[in-house]
Parts: sequence; structure tokens; C-alpha cells
Amino acid sequence: MGATPTFQLTLAFIRPYRQKSVKKRIEAIFLDNLGKVLTREQIIKAATDPASGRQPENWHQRLSELRTDDGYTILSWRNRGDLKVQEYLMPHQRKRRGAGKRVRPTDATWTAVLKRAAYACEWKEGGMTCGLKDGENDPVGGGRVKLTPDHKNPHSLNPDADPKDPQQWQALCGRHQVTKKNYWDTTTGKLNAYAIVQFATEPEKREVFKFLLSYFGYTMLKDGSITRHET
Ligand SMILES: [Zn+2]
Repeated sequence: MGATPTFQLTLAFIRPYRQKSVKKRIEAIFLDNLGKVLTREQIIKAATDPASGRQPENWHQRLSELRTDDGYTILSWRNRGDLKVQEYLMPHQRKRRGAGKRVRPTDATWTAVLKRAAYACEWKEGGMTCGLKDGENDPVGGGRVKLTPDHKNPHSLNPDADPKDPQQWQALCGRHQVTKKNYWDTTTGKLNAYAIVQFATEPEKREVFKFLLSYFGYTMLKDGSITRHET
């Protein structure tokens, strides 16, 4: 079911990884297996501390950082229909330019931001502020709220001044950091509809597909073929 595979996926080769950090070990296994599918288990095995044998709980966070901070392309079932849940693929080793130069606020700036925010998430959408407080339980996403700094406009004209300017930062809860990172288009200040659809589940994608067919005047027949409405 689902999308048709575009090419034969090959299983990856795994060797022990002795790099110093979880992130470096995950990077190494992907670079060793460009164009091949890696499973969650294989990544965790590679990420496991070679000395203590301890399995890292935060491997997924580190994998995200390889995407967002280092600029690697790492595909998952969310981007590619022929990958299963918990399968990952690095198609090539090119890094996105500009990634990794992440600016951070100074401690004084972050304190000022938290005070302005009254220690609550400042995410605004449709005229509503999230307002979840640091340490509270998140009733939507679950888990304890931890506020972290968000650079309001990562394409700022003045990146050197920003770490000292509280106006350039906001406090966001974890859920809204993810929303912004994945779904928010900072150039338009609107939700990134394409990213939302890309990250949706297959049934949700199907719903959107049907909606778009109907919107543009097409009907899907029982055999799966598509025809244009008579006008
Ligand atoms: Zn929030």
C-alpha cells in the first residue's frame, strides 16, 4: 500500500562506532551508508556509548540536530512514501549552506526575554498566546514544559547584534519550537502548508489529496483513476 518505491532500497552495513559523542556516531553511520535505509535499531546501536554500552535516550534529538544545525538531508517516512516508520535515509553528504551558524542569546538577554514573557510561552497564533508556563504540564503535547529561546527572524540583517537584543528573541515551549521549525515560514509569517502536508500521516495526506482533487475539479473513480468534472 502507499507510494510505489522509486528504487530498490538496500540494507545498511553497520560497524562499531567509537566517535566521542552520540551525534558524531549517528553522523558516522549515515555517512557510511549514503543512499541506504537505516532502521531505528541500527541508529540506536551505532549511537550506543562504546565504553559503557549505555543506549542514548536522546538519539532522536541528535538526529534532528544533524538536520537543523549541520544541514544534512535525512529523509524519513514523512518525506518519502517508500520509507517505513522508523526508517531513515541520507541520500547524499551535501550540507545545506548557512546551517550550523546558529545565533544564541546571551544569558542576560535570555533572562530579559523570560521576564518579559512572564516565564510563559510567547507563541501567538490567530490572536491567541500559548501561555504555557515553564515546568507546567503541556495538556496538548504531553510532558513538562521547558521554555527555550527562539530567534524570531533567523534571517536577521544584523546577526551580530541579536544575541544582546531581547526584542529579537521569544520564549517558546517545546511544542511550539517544533511547530516553528517545521511548519512556520519565517519569510511570509504564515504556516507553511506544504510542510504540514509533508509531515501529516498517510490518511491525512489522502484527505488533503481528495480535497485538492475536488477543489481543482477532479474526481477519483473506484479503480483509482482520476477524471475531470464535466462542466
Ligand atoms: Zn507554546
